[in-house]
Amino acid sequence: MNNVTQNFNFYHGNDPRELVQTFGSPLYVYNERILRERCRDIINLSTYPKFAVNYAVKTNSNLSLLKIIREEGLRTDISSEGEAVAALAAGFLPEEMLFILNGVGAEELAFASKIGSAESQYDTLSATVSVDSLSQLETLGRVNPGGRIFLRFNSGIGGGHHEKVVTGGDGTKFGIMPEYIPQVKELLRKYDLKLIGINQHVGSYIEGELYLEGVEAILRLARQFENLEYIDFGGGFMVPYHKQNGEGPIDLRAIGKRLDAMFFDFAKNYGKELTFMVEPGRYIVAECAVLLGTVHSLKNCGTKKYAGTDLGFSVFKRPTVYDAHHDIDIYRDPARGEGRGHLHADELSASDSKQDIFCGPMEKINIVGNQCETGDFIARDRELPPLREGDVLGILDAGAYGYSMACQYNHRARPAEVLISQDGEVRLIRRRDTYEDMLANMQGL
Ligand SMILES: *Cc1c(COP(=O)(O)O)cnc(C)c1O
Repeated sequence: MNNVTQNFNFYHGNDPRELVQTFGSPLYVYNERILRERCRDIINLSTYPKFAVNYAVKTNSNLSLLKIIREEGLRTDISSEGEAVAALAAGFLPEEMLFILNGVGAEELAFASKIGSAESQYDTLSATVSVDSLSQLETLGRVNPGGRIFLRFNSGIGGGHHEKVVTGGDGTKFGIMPEYIPQVKELLRKYDLKLIGINQHVGSYIEGELYLEGVEAILRLARQFENLEYIDFGGGFMVPYHKQNGEGPIDLRAIGKRLDAMFFDFAKNYGKELTFMVEPGRYIVAECAVLLGTVHSLKNCGTKKYAGTDLGFSVFKRPTVYDAHHDIDIYRDPARGEGRGHLHADELSASDSKQDIFCGPMEKINIVGNQCETGDFIARDRELPPLREGDVLGILDAGAYGYSMACQYNHRARPAEVLISQDGEVRLIRRRDTYEDMLANMQGL
């Protein structure tokens, strides 16, 4: 089995089993070097001079990670008031935020419109708000007449790794269909709103070809508006979730070349210098994290084998919600293993680093969590070397929609998060919930 974390020197000399001993199990472990690399991949996607990258904060909103992302020159895509508060705490300015809102109340629209205005505590810089229905446009007009706004369109292109993440195309809840453009223009006039930008988001985990199709479609639509300053093409770039099978990254260089051609061409014909934006979430943060957990029980049930772990869906929801696949590395105490067990990365020479960590036959096993639900699983029928109680598992590429979707179901504390800095130092960036934290909001006893 291909030990991915070792090949990538993910732990930078730290031993994952020791991390779990120090910070508790389960534990989210982030690698700063990989996070910065992914930010730079996208910043360098296009050579167009006014190219901007908005990081989708919903993907992972840990403040330490947000700070690094800001240092790398990204701005933010904000989907709620709470995310804006987090982004501000991490140092982002209102002018570095685009609120992309969907089905929110007048209060949240007012907050988003005013966060950068003179009345707010945050000087006169201005955040921008995008809405995606005629009814939200009308509400936004009432709370912020004369404002500079974005609109989210549905250009008819959609896709994604699961039906739950397809956000464009026929029948999804997002975006204004182009046939409503006459009514849009009427509402813009009625409230004296200035449409400075349009945006879309086709879906999550999509192929380059589909992304480019989406770009073409929204550029065609953009020609129907005269005074745009921004066009935002959304996120959704794929990450390789099957590294143990040798899957490599998407070809951003090829996508970038095609984007450049379209950007320069459109800007020339539009007669105005536009800013073109992309909005990745997953691509930025997925690969910089491994979620560590511990095998506590092993059993057979009929024809199936189960490994019970502390990785319930309150800790990591993607397999349960999206049937998502995540590769799993195994870390075993060498003293307990037959043969060599796992040695940590830096003890192994490059030639050692592949097949031979666990020898012997593989077996199919279901890796499940400790939650009282049958749908609580991390991997189904996964071929792995026979597991043992006490093995530490590493769920790879867990940084996107991992902690940000964690919850306290079964009154289980959400795990701690640690960051491995570029020089290999490990820093706690969020402590584990305490039971006191979890009871603190309840009143009226
Ligand atoms: C979730 C979301 C993104 C990020 O999607 P990824 O697939 O994580 O890149 C971008 N834009 C909008 C509007 C979103 O809702």
